[in-house]
Amino acid sequence: MKTLACKDMGVECDYVAEAETEEEVMGMSMEHAKKVHKEKMDEMMENMTMDEMKEEMRSKIKEEK
Ligand SMILES: [Zn+2]
Repeated sequence: MKTLACKDMGVECDYVAEAETEEEVMGMSMEHAKKVHKEKMDEMMENMTMDEMKEEMRSKIKEEK
């Protein structure tokens, strides 16, 4: 099980995306962020490309049993 916590992306939020694959967990986290953290997303997108953002997210993914 892979998890990606909003907190680890620097957002005050208890949401944690959980899925079997990195792609899925990143997709879930992205969907959530678009809905709930639109301002933060916009801010981040000003400073990095989508690819850089994905790398950032990938680096925060944790492996859990
Ligand atoms: Zn969140």
